Amino acid sequence: MLTVSKNRPLLTTITGSLPRPGWFGANLQGRPFSLAMTDVAFREQYADGVASFLTDQTRAGLDLLTDGDARCDCDVGGRSWFGYPAERLNGLSGHHVGRGGTASSRDKQPGDLMFEVLETRVLPKVVGPISRGPLEYARVWKSAQRLTRKPVKFGAISGQMVATSVYDTHYKDRRRLIMALSEAMNAELTELAGAGCQVIQIEEPAIHGMVGVDDKEVSSDFLVEAFNREVAGLRAKTEVWAHTCWGNPAAQRTETKRRFYTPALPYFNKLDVDVVTFEAADNGGDEIADFAKAIGDDKKICIGVISHRTLQVERPDDVADLIRRALKVIPKERLIISTDCGFGRQGMSRLHAFYKMVSLVRGTNIVRRELGLEEADVLAADPAGALI
Ligand SMILES: [Zn+2]
Repeated sequence: MLTVSKNRPLLTTITGSLPRPGWFGANLQGRPFSLAMTDVAFREQYADGVASFLTDQTRAGLDLLTDGDARCDCDVGGRSWFGYPAERLNGLSGHHVGRGGTASSRDKQPGDLMFEVLETRVLPKVVGPISRGPLEYARVWKSAQRLTRKPVKFGAISGQMVATSVYDTHYKDRRRLIMALSEAMNAELTELAGAGCQVIQIEEPAIHGMVGVDDKEVSSDFLVEAFNREVAGLRAKTEVWAHTCWGNPAAQRTETKRRFYTPALPYFNKLDVDVVTFEAADNGGDEIADFAKAIGDDKKICIGVISHRTLQVERPDDVADLIRRALKVIPKERLIISTDCGFGRQGMSRLHAFYKMVSLVRGTNIVRRELGLEEADVLAADPAGALI
């Protein structure tokens, strides 16, 4: 059900992750979050880090905030996006060196940046039946939400994306592995929704990534079925988003070649979610009409108007142009404004991420003004705060 985005045309947010402050070097290193929070150095750095993420987003004027994915360790290419659940779910243990799951080898040979990403994606292997472990999503979310009255979205990797990266010695069957991961995640996310989290973002269906890799798996609807198992019951309690993108490790596309959403769109429309997010900045917005055609009225469409792959900060005018183009095919009531993906996977500095967020809101404000909608207060752009 819609909560935060209900009656909020052109709601603004970011995907989730943010670059850490330089002084935030403490990592969970496999510990349960609640245990790490008894460690003075970790607790201080974590709590202050989250506070700085929330302050930056508030100064930018965003409507829906995130905790910057602060639970993720500082590791190569955002390994921890996979590692956080893989190191905590029951049924996984040890560590596997080598390519796990079904990771494709295209563009990932020695000499390619993505090879180094895969080389360092050392994760526990599946050694027994998978069930919930100490993921503690509700505690992690609360530790951010208690610092602000603005809503904090919680985003986390999907079971099917975990499955693409872990080495399975137990199920030896991709479908059984994916379904077990989906069921464990559902239990975790149900607790998170029950704790009061108003927006939960699942990152992401594996559907678009599997087009051209295993078309039969896509056309069988299995990935839709598994995704919907993962989110089963959540929409009765909270607003559910499906994030989609073309990759983020060290700000890279996971495959160099440009790929298109088109073949995956009918499957996205079957996902049991309130909002589907799409990259629209990195690809110049030229698929927006396709999103509008394929995604039914029961869902909102969230477009990225800021790229996580470039360091040049988009100008507010360019952001406004992209939003105006989207509004030609998507009514403002169904349009949400975000980034293509997160900023925090070893891709850019805090400085870049901050001004990209500010530009996102300043650009949205231009369109809000044209439509007679209330503008967001962008504290960062208030001349009264300038030191010169
Ligand atoms: Zn993404």
